[in-house]
Amino acid sequence: MPRTPYIAANWKMNKTVAEAAEFVDTLLPRISATQHDVVICPPFTALTAVVERRYGTAVKVAAQNMHEEDSGAFTGEVSAPMLVELDVEAVVLGHSERRQFFGETDEALARKVPAALAHDLEPILCVGESEAARDGGETEEVLERQLQADLAGIEAADLSKVVIAYEPIWAIGTGKVATPEQAQEACAYIRDVVRMRGGAADDLRVLYGGSVKPGNAAELLSLPDVDGALVGGAALDAEDFAAIVEAAG
Ligand code: PEP
Repeated sequence: MPRTPYIAANWKMNKTVAEAAEFVDTLLPRISATQHDVVICPPFTALTAVVERRYGTAVKVAAQNMHEEDSGAFTGEVSAPMLVELDVEAVVLGHSERRQFFGETDEALARKVPAALAHDLEPILCVGESEAARDGGETEEVLERQLQADLAGIEAADLSKVVIAYEPIWAIGTGKVATPEQAQEACAYIRDVVRMRGGAADDLRVLYGGSVKPGNAAELLSLPDVDGALVGGAALDAEDFAAIVEAAG
């Protein structure tokens, strides 16, 4: 069975409730015919506004982070049951901005990914190399290390329930997009690592993320091992994001 394209909008720390509502109201009529998985990742404060507007549509809603425990003394954190109660269906884990600015570790991710699955939240796990690692020829080593660590607690049978986003750090928010060769090679490698772990690699969705725009989306999304995109900057504009959804075919 072909893999359903998966196009996700990571708003990061952008959009008030009013702005989120306006975005969804503009987006929905433009993507009403899509068969793809279209996922919006608002900040926590705008989750409900997006959830309520998307009922009856193909749009799914993802949080941008969560804590691995269900509850407890973790000031400022939000748990999987809290997200599920809001009808959120997915969660971004391990975005490089969380790794870089908030000390997100592979050890924490090894607990967060199973916690998300245990609550039926689809994890969108982000992995990717720094510019120095790419220049040093260490891309595959970094990807394998992150994948093995972050997915350590996941049974082989459940690996393909995780969506993996290949996000080279040097391409995020920089306007510097990976070449089609670089994106294809890295996404194929990610699939190979999951295959080596015994996962149903042909069912796994692997996304590319890093300066995806309406103008470069079609080429990236046509690559055999790129099943979708995680979009930051261009996903703040409903027309641009709709164009990227359309570019997925
Ligand atoms: C992201 O935030 O995951 C991302 C890929 O951002 P941008 O599209 O702006 O590079």
